[in-house]
Amino acid sequence: MNIIKLENVGFCFGVTKSIETATNVLKSNHFPKPVYILGYLIHNKLISKELESLGAIIINESEIENLKAGTIITTAHGISDSLKNKLMNSCLTLVDTTCAIVNKTHQIINDHLKQGYTLILLGEKNHKEVIGLTHGKNNIYIIKNINEITSLPQLSEKTKLGFVTQTTVTPYEIETVLEALKTKYPNILQLSSCCEATKKRQIELLSIIEKYKNNQKTLYLVIGDKLSNNTNKLLKTILEKSQCDGLLIENLNELKNINTSKYQNIIITSATSASITIVNEIYNYLLNN
Ligand code: SF4
Repeated sequence: MNIIKLENVGFCFGVTKSIETATNVLKSNHFPKPVYILGYLIHNKLISKELESLGAIIINESEIENLKAGTIITTAHGISDSLKNKLMNSCLTLVDTTCAIVNKTHQIINDHLKQGYTLILLGEKNHKEVIGLTHGKNNIYIIKNINEITSLPQLSEKTKLGFVTQTTVTPYEIETVLEALKTKYPNILQLSSCCEATKKRQIELLSIIEKYKNNQKTLYLVIGDKLSNNTNKLLKTILEKSQCDGLLIENLNELKNINTSKYQNIIITSATSASITIVNEIYNYLLNN
């Protein structure tokens, strides 16, 4: 049996930075205690537990009103401009760990709305990143996939129209949706795309799918949290583009319940919020068993 671990696995730089920042804040004496985190810092239960063991208290937005003092850390997915303003003007010390790429999308959206653009955003309406990007803003239409283009209104030719995306949408979804949008709105401008980390993982995955397309005894394992958009997009690519089995697992214990003996190849990829330690643990287990 061939066990193949793809090159682009483990944390992306945005996730690494967010974890490092939160850990430093929790270990430092310079930040007022208690230290709150606004939701799960990243989609990784082990990391959340580690941060909690350092004293972090994970809260949701509705609990902010009751806080009287301390530090609040925002997650790598970012928050809305209105929530950021509210936190900056509160009694809490704000530590913003939004990924730089998400911040860049915020800036692109704000700049173009100011210039009078109407925007179409490709992404998951209920995902934290998309809520952060769009909350309280007019003239943004959110679509999840190509099928939702039909629900978009007809706009006058004079409308300045821009296309932006959630950072974890796949490059091929962006390409197909943009192409379809152009038939409805020939003047639409692409203003943002997925992040480099997402792009590299998806491109590497597509290339190995192509290589193993004639061997259906291939199993693709995606390591990552089931709530992570990034994880689910990797699985979606496997199920849509390969004729093989694809499974999503969070840890080694989940792998132990799977019968892998019928496969000739096992190919491992991971979400940007899955640690290299877990990826290697699963890879080594497969090699040795
Ligand atoms: S997946 Fe991309 S946008 Fe999200 S944290 Fe990582 S680098 Fe940043």
